[in-house]
Amino acid sequence: MSMSLLTVVVPCYNEEENVPFFYEEFMKNESFFAEKGIALELLYVDDGSGDGTVREVKKLRERDERVHLVSFSRNFGKEAAIYAGLENARGDYVVMMDADLQDPPALLPEMFSYIDEGYDSVATRRVSRKGEPPVRSFFARMFYRLMKRISKTEIMDGARDYRLMSRQMVDAILSMGEYNRFTKGIFGWVGFRTKWMEYENVERLKGETKWNFWKLFLYSLDGICAFSTMPLMLASVLGVFFCVVAFLMIAFIIVRKLIFGDPVSGWPSLVCIILMTSGVQFFCTGILGQYLAKTYMEVKKRPIYLVRERF
Ligand code: UDP
Ligand code: MG
Repeated sequence: MSMSLLTVVVPCYNEEENVPFFYEEFMKNESFFAEKGIALELLYVDDGSGDGTVREVKKLRERDERVHLVSFSRNFGKEAAIYAGLENARGDYVVMMDADLQDPPALLPEMFSYIDEGYDSVATRRVSRKGEPPVRSFFARMFYRLMKRISKTEIMDGARDYRLMSRQMVDAILSMGEYNRFTKGIFGWVGFRTKWMEYENVERLKGETKWNFWKLFLYSLDGICAFSTMPLMLASVLGVFFCVVAFLMIAFIIVRKLIFGDPVSGWPSLVCIILMTSGVQFFCTGILGQYLAKTYMEVKKRPIYLVRERF
């Protein structure tokens, strides 16, 4: 049997405490991979950490030749880290895992069993959101429900980035060179046969999550812009709606004038109407602006990440 290679991509942003723990925890499965004839490559992607993440990875490297690092020149965000990980992975299979051990390595043997069954990718979703603020869970659910309606791309509720993929799927993802990367959507967009595995939410080992509510909110807007043009449609529909309302009101006023004469009244309602329609106009211009901004960033064709150091 010929050896195949599995690349483990671990995006790290200020995870110095978690890097060694992740290594230990992951290597508990080492015998499983040895039996299956799968060689390992651990690729830590340092997303411009300000702490000792790189130092910790270097320590691991001294012990283990299979540890690799791509270190960014600054923080480019997790999406960029994922892209860099996939781009630098040499494996026949690639698995993405968070450094904080929220993606249990113990699931890997089961994930590989599905690959053996012929799936191209095994993805995970958490069925509970234990340990998360209720407001956040509520808005997260709303987001996924909305996306289901306005986007043709399948975006699974509770999907984690913890995912095992075949080389074919990795190449497909890399072929999507867009600058505004919303990986959850990209995974769905490329298709392939995906097996979904469910598990209970695990809380992060050490340190704090890098996502606060506001960041998540902006991220959800990015997701909507990247995988739906429905908001643009909404702007047109609102425009038509207000034209119809205006037309009906004009008809109403003319008829009233013909029947009752012309009592000069109604400036409060006029003010309300002006405020409302101008509000709607700003809203729609805002929507246009969002897409324009995304397009602007896209046409600049800036690199998705810059490397400071690698081995
Ligand atoms: N991460 C990253 N760049 C960032 C933010 C996060 O590479 O700008 C990494 C982080 O180190 C972790 C993973 O992405 O390995 C998930 O981040 P986090 O645990 O903060 O998110 P959560 O699990 O709460 O969704
Ligand atoms: Mg986490």
